[in-house]
Amino acid sequence: MEQKIQLYNTLSRRKENFEPINPPHVGLYVCGPTVYGDAHLGHARPAVTFDLVFRYLQHIGYKVRYVRNITDVGHLENDADQGEDKVAKKARLEQLEPMEIVQYYTLRYHKNMDQLNVLPPSIEPHASGHMIEQIEMVKKILDSGFAYEKNGSVYFDVVKYNSAHNYGKLSGRSIEETMENTRELAGQEEKQNQVDFAIWKKASPEHIMRWPSPWSDGFPGWHIECSAMGCKYLGETFDIHGGGMDLIFPHHESEIAQSVAANGHDHVRYWMHNNMITIDGQKMGKSLNNFITLNQFFSGEHPLLDQPYDPITIRFFILQAHYRSTLDFSNDALKAAEKGLKRLLAAGQTLDKLKPFEKSTVQIETWRNQCYEAMNDDFNSPIAIAQLFDAVRMINSINDGKDSITAQDLALLNKTYNDFVFDILGLRSDEQTASADHELVEGLMQTILDIRKEAKLKKDWPTADKIRDHLSALNIEVKDTKEGATWNVKG
Ligand code: ZN
Repeated sequence: MEQKIQLYNTLSRRKENFEPINPPHVGLYVCGPTVYGDAHLGHARPAVTFDLVFRYLQHIGYKVRYVRNITDVGHLENDADQGEDKVAKKARLEQLEPMEIVQYYTLRYHKNMDQLNVLPPSIEPHASGHMIEQIEMVKKILDSGFAYEKNGSVYFDVVKYNSAHNYGKLSGRSIEETMENTRELAGQEEKQNQVDFAIWKKASPEHIMRWPSPWSDGFPGWHIECSAMGCKYLGETFDIHGGGMDLIFPHHESEIAQSVAANGHDHVRYWMHNNMITIDGQKMGKSLNNFITLNQFFSGEHPLLDQPYDPITIRFFILQAHYRSTLDFSNDALKAAEKGLKRLLAAGQTLDKLKPFEKSTVQIETWRNQCYEAMNDDFNSPIAIAQLFDAVRMINSINDGKDSITAQDLALLNKTYNDFVFDILGLRSDEQTASADHELVEGLMQTILDIRKEAKLKKDWPTADKIRDHLSALNIEVKDTKEGATWNVKG
């Protein structure tokens, strides 16, 4: 590997050299959405952050297996062991099957990810599709003695675990702190300690999402799905586990405990967490009325928004901050990002027109190295973007005749600029999308008209007429001329 990455490990609280277990393969697991509503900015940030990681690792030569799950069962309303299942509640309110809710919001999530130019992961497992694996893991934890059964539910024994290992090594919380912060909740008297968490819950009679198990008809706890699916697809120990900082405790802390209890060792080498998003300096929340979905950002239909924002502007805005820094959304900041993105993409078009000279007055090799150094330093996208703006200044200066560049340097500038803007940062210009669409339509129409021409030559009139009629129904008019058939969309 020509490029060497240093990444910040939440577990060790410092930057470490990235050394995968089995290079060039890399296992990457990221906690995906709980699908009971439209994605908002809080979903966009981890998606874009780990898309950047996925893209960059591949760009420098790694073969990445990226697993991002869909949580469709077991995530209860208060993120702990109480309250209704988030998916089941939505299903009850909408009078739909829970799996209709899951399907509907999963498709909408995929569409949003596509709009943000977030690449699909290699595997996208659903928690509800991995009941056997989760039940097997609960059995292993019971066998290890770090869990106990009570009235058909199985609880992880945090206190016993902590006496042998360290429950709190990821979050830095001591067990005393955790115990103090755990509220006494009604209906929790089955637990030996308030800090214990459910890994299998017996379903109450009205609970519709339920599966048979050795202990009861019930459902898995929220944390067990990621332990079970990560292990299934990436092995007992894998390279990188990512997610938002809000997942460090209790979700990821509990994942470690479950894996150590079941397999006898940690399951993750490097833990990566993206920081949170605020809106005008405030936390996002339904009660604060600043809960803006991605679809509302794209359409501009929200009282807090001055205008619609292109999905790539949102992506660019997220990448302008380092993933471990907080990020504050405001109309002014987004408009500034929109302007910056335009300037960056415009320079790309100027770059295409530059003519080489006999000598370079610009340092392309140095600039290229600085671009890679930025990304190698814990995926520092804001510094990489600053380097790209340095390139914008160079490009404009060469275009104005104030600087000059050799053919070799120009080729390197072109390659590096395009690699970073499009492949690594995953930006995209409207013109690019439109011209790709245009080419596709031209190609398809040519194919269809060729088939019609062959049909006519064979005197296969029904096929020829069918093609013309179907196109006509799509408002496409075909005209036969001496030079061949032409087409246009009827005004
Ligand atoms: Zn998870």
